[in-house]
Amino acid sequence: RKGTTKVEQILNAKASVQEFIQRTHRHFIGGEWVPAASGETMDDIDPSTRGVLTQVARGDSADVDRAVAAAAQAFRDKAWRHMSPQARGVLMWKLADLMAAHLEELAQIDSLDMGMPLRQAQYGTVPMAIDHMRYMAGWATKIEGETIPVSAGPFFNYTVRQPVGVVGAIIPWNFPLLMAIWKLGAALAVGCTVVLKPAEQSPLSVLRLAELITEAGFPPGVINIVTGYGPEAGAALVAHPGVNKIAFTGSTEVGKSIMRTAADRMARVSLELGGKSPNIICADANLKRAISGSMLGIFMNQGEVCSAGSRIYVAREIYDEALEQMATYAKNMRVGMALDAKTQMGPVVSAEQYERVLGYITKGRQEGATVIAGGGAMPAAGSGFFIEPTVFAQVTDTMTIAQEEIFGPVAAVMPFDTVDEVIERANVSAYGLAAGVWTENVRTAHYLAQNLEAGTVWVNAYHVYDAAAPWGGFKQSGLGREMGHHALELYTETKDVWISLQ
Ligand code: NAD
Repeated sequence: RKGTTKVEQILNAKASVQEFIQRTHRHFIGGEWVPAASGETMDDIDPSTRGVLTQVARGDSADVDRAVAAAAQAFRDKAWRHMSPQARGVLMWKLADLMAAHLEELAQIDSLDMGMPLRQAQYGTVPMAIDHMRYMAGWATKIEGETIPVSAGPFFNYTVRQPVGVVGAIIPWNFPLLMAIWKLGAALAVGCTVVLKPAEQSPLSVLRLAELITEAGFPPGVINIVTGYGPEAGAALVAHPGVNKIAFTGSTEVGKSIMRTAADRMARVSLELGGKSPNIICADANLKRAISGSMLGIFMNQGEVCSAGSRIYVAREIYDEALEQMATYAKNMRVGMALDAKTQMGPVVSAEQYERVLGYITKGRQEGATVIAGGGAMPAAGSGFFIEPTVFAQVTDTMTIAQEEIFGPVAAVMPFDTVDEVIERANVSAYGLAAGVWTENVRTAHYLAQNLEAGTVWVNAYHVYDAAAPWGGFKQSGLGREMGHHALELYTETKDVWISLQ
């Protein structure tokens, strides 16, 4: 549709980004750009303006069938199957170099597409995606088996680790490029092929990535991208008999349904799901650092982070002082258009998310919590889905805002009296993704780190990530660990071989 792409933000983007956004966006299957079999498209919205950025192919099971066939073919083809591990690593490194050469462009696309502040994309998430691809490229040559000294008789026994096959990767909208690379990095390092379905809210950076994948020289079909809605394209990918493994990042609810569907054919599943992460500020903490770290912990990426530190527990003796500093911090945050370099917090991703988050704020008030900063929509920031950085005090453990994942810029702050009490309260949650601890006491730090039920514990820091460090959740926050060498296990099968020596 001509004319629909002239939203205010695109005009401020790089010419190459403007040109890219306005293209006809199709699926990327077998190295080619193809329209949806149905001919249908879906609108892609700019959350900073609510304008339509562009249209993207609306995939369904017919497109998924085609993409899985291309991935299965590429998995069988010698071009990929017999490619040396070193050559695979070189290709991955080449892709990382291309991403680095187009860093600014990729950052602008994610920023436009999902509302991520440009600076965060430029200095945080896109560089992290590049680092991740490079880290995983190094693993391509290190997927080793072992020799086993068996006692069953005169045998030579060894293991090999083989790629699991065709991977169906489904990712959320909060860090579009980074989530794609977390999956692609490990899958490619071990020699799998992939059908990737980005979130319907933010498919664009992954489509730009596909062009770089072609430029890097990956054989056709090794990486395929089908855009579309979850219940259509996503569900078709999960149910497809040709998909050997599903790698999913998204909500716990959808994660559970994926696990159920996958169980029928015993497809491998790894899940990175939601969270309601506790962030604990002890009385002896360096308060200045604790406050700014905790505010980053909840407000980074508009709070749309699986590991957002959304339950903030503060030692009672410093509770009032901490609240005052948090309120000041939140009120001073610059909320605005995602592409504006001064913006610290952008809009939330969609109309649906906007209503959800505002609904939680209303509920927090109704259940008796007190707003000490923010507390509503922020039309002054622009016509997009802007919500004020919001801090609630007088929160109790049973309130909805203390229990459910809001996935928005809303902090629930609660006092605590003893370390054992706060451990118990922190661990009550069904989630267990991450936790923060602020203390100057080494014993308290280790005691909390040992006892909190979370896949990651940060001490005197929040939201630090590294390609080499494993990532994933305890309890209902997921299954498996992405990043680090741990991720490779999700994409390989171990085969044990017996050779009779007599
Ligand atoms: P979502 O579960 O609604 O969607 C995630 C993806 O799944 C999208 O691509 C969507 O189209 C697809 N999908 C939806 N329904 C599906 C179905 N029935 N079958 C197959 N696919 C389906 O989640 P969201 O709202 O996009 O993302 C937010 C959630 O993701 C939050 O809960 C957040 O905590 C979680 N998340 C977790 C991590 C992590 O590393 N643990 C990282 C980022 C986000």
